Amino acid sequence: MRADEPSGIPLWLEHVLEPVKPPVSTLVGASIGRSGADSTSATARRSCLVLAPHPDDETFGCGVTIMRKVDAGTPVQVAVVTDGSTYPPHKSAADNIATRDAELRAACKLLGLDDESVIHLSFPETQLHLAGEALVDAVSDLVKSSSPDDVLVTSEADPHRDHAALGEATRRALAGTSVRVCLYPIWQWERPRSWLRTLQGSSRPERVSTAGYLDRKRKAVGAYSSQFSLAAGGELTEKIGLTPGFIRRFMGSYEVFFPVPQ
Ligand SMILES: [Zn+2]
Repeated sequence: MRADEPSGIPLWLEHVLEPVKPPVSTLVGASIGRSGADSTSATARRSCLVLAPHPDDETFGCGVTIMRKVDAGTPVQVAVVTDGSTYPPHKSAADNIATRDAELRAACKLLGLDDESVIHLSFPETQLHLAGEALVDAVSDLVKSSSPDDVLVTSEADPHRDHAALGEATRRALAGTSVRVCLYPIWQWERPRSWLRTLQGSSRPERVSTAGYLDRKRKAVGAYSSQFSLAAGGELTEKIGLTPGFIRRFMGSYEVFFPVPQ
């Protein structure tokens, strides 16, 4: 996963904000998390379908929430929507797909999920905005077959184009249904204004406590080393790999969700 293009904010403004945005965005995200309603107990009993644009988003955004559900005996299904073929950019598509699938399996096992609970939709990575009705139909079919209480998905306001496209397709697929949609932030942690755009379409945010689960989450995140910068223990550069600072933002006291009003 990588923030290729901001959406909705002019590029010049993103550039102006560049020098300060990580600390500003971290502060905004932490503040939103603190203001959220504690849903730690309630969420553990609600079955869910986690829609992840890429292998790793499910663990970063929802790892503890998934573990709490599994520990409570609540059904969880994870669907990874893109094939992971394009990253890291210097390796072949086949290698990347194989590596990232193995990482996904390892991470989800650490979260307590069996192989049958994790599926691939295999849309081409970085091209989700071009998937159109095929993506809407795929999400709709998945929700019909698994009948979850909640769908956890990235937001249309997420700065990453694949993440935003999945959020939009999910909104369209579930319009008029009673399924509850909760958005989880990923690249909002890098772009302060995208927090505000996410909030605009949400009721009061909810938070799930990570207490007692962070060690396991850290191990699950660690399964994705193909995406990490050198400083984070991977082989990529600071510019294209996930940095220690990025990873740290998902290891706070809470995971945060933005419920979408029906
Ligand atoms: Zn991603």
